[in-house]
Amino acid sequence: MSYIYQNITSMLKIENYNLDWLPYWQPNSETDKCSNTICNSEFGFFNSKHHCRECGKIYCNKCWGKMAYVGVYYKEVPICDICYNKHMIPDPEKK
Ligand SMILES: [Zn+2]
Ligand SMILES: [Zn+2]
Repeated sequence: MSYIYQNITSMLKIENYNLDWLPYWQPNSETDKCSNTICNSEFGFFNSKHHCRECGKIYCNKCWGKMAYVGVYYKEVPICDICYNKHMIPDPEKK
C-alpha cells in the first residue's frame, strides 16, 4: 500500500469523525463497486473510492467530484452525479 493511499484513508477517517450527523456514511470495506448502478465500475488501485458529501455513498472518479453548495457544510463540496442532478432540479418540497 502506497504512502499516498494511506494518507487519503487517514484523511477520510478524520472527515468521517467530523460527519457524525450524516444519516449514512458508507464504510470503505462495504463495497468494491461504484454506487451508481448505471456505472457499477469496480474499484482498484487506479480507480479510487470517493464519498459523496451529500448521500455518503461511495463512487468512482467518473461519478463523483462535481461541486455543489450543500447547506450543512455552508460551502461547495464534491458530490456524486446523482445528487448533483437533484441540485439541478428545483425541489418542489422546499418552498
Ligand atoms: Zn450523492
Ligand atoms: Zn462510477
